[in-house]
Amino acid sequence: MTLDWRVKRIAKNETSFRDINERLEAGLRQVRHTPERLEFICECGDRECESSVHVSFEEYEAVRADSRRFIVVPGHVFPETERVVSGNDRYEVVEKFGEAVEVTDASDRRSPGITGRRSDSTSP
Ligand SMILES: [Zn+2]
Repeated sequence: MTLDWRVKRIAKNETSFRDINERLEAGLRQVRHTPERLEFICECGDRECESSVHVSFEEYEAVRADSRRFIVVPGHVFPETERVVSGNDRYEVVEKFGEAVEVTDASDRRSPGITGRRSDSTSP
């Protein structure tokens, strides 16, 4: 098991959680009265993770502005492939680096093609 393989597997887990959250968000937007905080699933690299994060639409969209970023439960971080760019007591935002970015860029449904989106913002 090479590091490369592990890094890509973590990124694939995260992007599949992201896809689920994208569908969740789309569904929630159809609801007339949504709570201020919505329940999304933790987008960490652990395929078995069943934790959730509570964020507003605005907070979720701020994370989604960058293809490399994922929203996770505080501490659900894989330091060999991502760094924490912002967070609070409810969630942390991690940003992928290195080879994993290829995976996270290519799988961003909001950015067709192999080039992902980038945000300069470091606040959630
Ligand atoms: Zn997690």
